[in-house]
Amino acid sequence: MVCLDIDDTLIDFTSAGRRSLEDLIGRADMWPLWERITDDHVARVVSGELPYADMHTVRTRAFLAELGVDIDMAVAGEVEARRKEVLRRSWRLFEDVLPCLEWLATAGVKLAAVTNASGEHQRDKLARLGLSEFFDHVAIAGEMGVAKPDPVMFHKVCCALGCEPANAVHVGDKLTTDAVGARDAGLGGVWLDRRGSAGVDVEVPPGVHVLHTLADLPELLVSEYARVGVPTQR
Ligand SMILES: [Mg+2]
Repeated sequence: MVCLDIDDTLIDFTSAGRRSLEDLIGRADMWPLWERITDDHVARVVSGELPYADMHTVRTRAFLAELGVDIDMAVAGEVEARRKEVLRRSWRLFEDVLPCLEWLATAGVKLAAVTNASGEHQRDKLARLGLSEFFDHVAIAGEMGVAKPDPVMFHKVCCALGCEPANAVHVGDKLTTDAVGARDAGLGGVWLDRRGSAGVDVEVPPGVHVLHTLADLPELLVSEYARVGVPTQR
């Protein structure tokens, strides 16, 4: 079985998010603050403190409050709806995604999407971009009450597809959350380092494989992880 993270692994989520935020506030330099506030709110959903249905509006209101703009929940809801529409229009697949998924489908590998995002919109996103048919299972942290890198998240996915962790590999763009988390849960851990940080800004921990593009995933599976169920020849 192969597990793939969604945001910034399959879908260029950061570019879309930045575009929607710039459209909202008319400036491009607030992305780190937005990410931090979003992460805090996602954690509150995962812990059960904040209902998922309220999360985006509460987050956007909290973000604007940090910028000194106080609005009530009704206005925040309208602002967030407009931002989301821009966001949806901005979702794009990375170019290496479809060839990789087609190879995995042809190889007959079971495939799971494993995301720390918090809800149903991840399925909408996969469907809009034509990816739903490729996945046997979609695991969403906000629905499961557990998130990567917690090994429970990875073990639940393996269980759902009847696969031993040792016969599974997880690939994602976040070194700790995805690759190290998977490795520590007994799966193969693969870091998709699209920016080329490995060995430059970031030391790669033992037991983690690094890819710079999904175009190289078939090769890695065949040479290192044939146990996930790929043919031994490309
Ligand atoms: Mg990601």
